Amino acid sequence: MLADGGKNSAMGEDLEKLKQRLPLLDYLRQQNWMGRPAGHGPEFVGLCPLHAESRPSFYVNVRKNLFYCHGCGQGGDLVRFVQLSRHLSFPQSLAYLEQQIAPADPADVLEEAAAFYQQQLPRHSEALRYLEQRGVHDPALIEQLRIGYAPGGNLRRHLTAQGYPRDLLGRLGLVNRRGNDAFCQRIVFPCRHDGRVVNFYGRSIGTVFAHRFLPGSKGNLFAWESVRQFSPVILVEGLFDLAVLWQAGFRNTTCAFGTHLTLAQLEQLSDTSGRRVYVVFDQDQNQAGQQASQALALRLQRLGLTVSLVKLPAGQDPNSYFVRGASAADFALCLQGAKAL
Ligand SMILES: [Zn+2]
Repeated sequence: MLADGGKNSAMGEDLEKLKQRLPLLDYLRQQNWMGRPAGHGPEFVGLCPLHAESRPSFYVNVRKNLFYCHGCGQGGDLVRFVQLSRHLSFPQSLAYLEQQIAPADPADVLEEAAAFYQQQLPRHSEALRYLEQRGVHDPALIEQLRIGYAPGGNLRRHLTAQGYPRDLLGRLGLVNRRGNDAFCQRIVFPCRHDGRVVNFYGRSIGTVFAHRFLPGSKGNLFAWESVRQFSPVILVEGLFDLAVLWQAGFRNTTCAFGTHLTLAQLEQLSDTSGRRVYVVFDQDQNQAGQQASQALALRLQRLGLTVSLVKLPAGQDPNSYFVRGASAADFALCLQGAKAL
């Protein structure tokens, strides 16, 4: 009896702490309850979240941290409210609330967003059409790269329903100040680091602001965990270049999200001495791509790598080359034709 009594009072203390950490009114507001002060006292009033009504009869007393509805007669504390509103048992409600107040791990949020985007892709023909236009059609590859689509408008609702606070979504850059999905109408590739999603690359399926990332690290070389076993390695500028090359069987392709490599990316490339690297950047008409390739090649050579600059037909990048009908054999010929510097 004594032991039990001790346990119960300890649980009671925890329960009090939990209710202090997440006051009922704060919780209700997180759930989008609109309450206004009822007079000058400690009470707020609004429409009852537990029954349908058109005139507000749901009262929250912030001093007592309790609610009461004059319409449906329900009342109690935060845990009671969770039990009623989410149809959970008392222990389930406690577990749910513990999760609500635990600081959310940004990596978990990004993982959840990635899963959401992935689910959306097959439901939106405009997104599938865009992928097809960019030469990406292998379902196994789309699954492996976890390519998704952001239709816009429903990401915030989805993530807040999972219990992730809206301000965290804003801080991560997933939603903008108005609460809209930052990747709206974009094909989305998750970028990973050590197996965890750290960023997204979003490619607009329209014409505005073609490329977008979240603020913060892009996670070094793309898919390096699986590419690092190879020599030679093929280095491309963008994820659509990578996707068509993987699809054509060149799984030794990685991407640096542009032509300027970070120190961390250079270190990754040179983690095996003497590795051969094929650099296949865009063949821009204005020579900018070639200049970037040259500068990078010199840098990589100094790190002990064997570098070849691969020439594609004028004006092409690996993606457009394949979209225009090039085969794996055509691309292999381009690799063979590239001389080591
Ligand atoms: Zn009610």
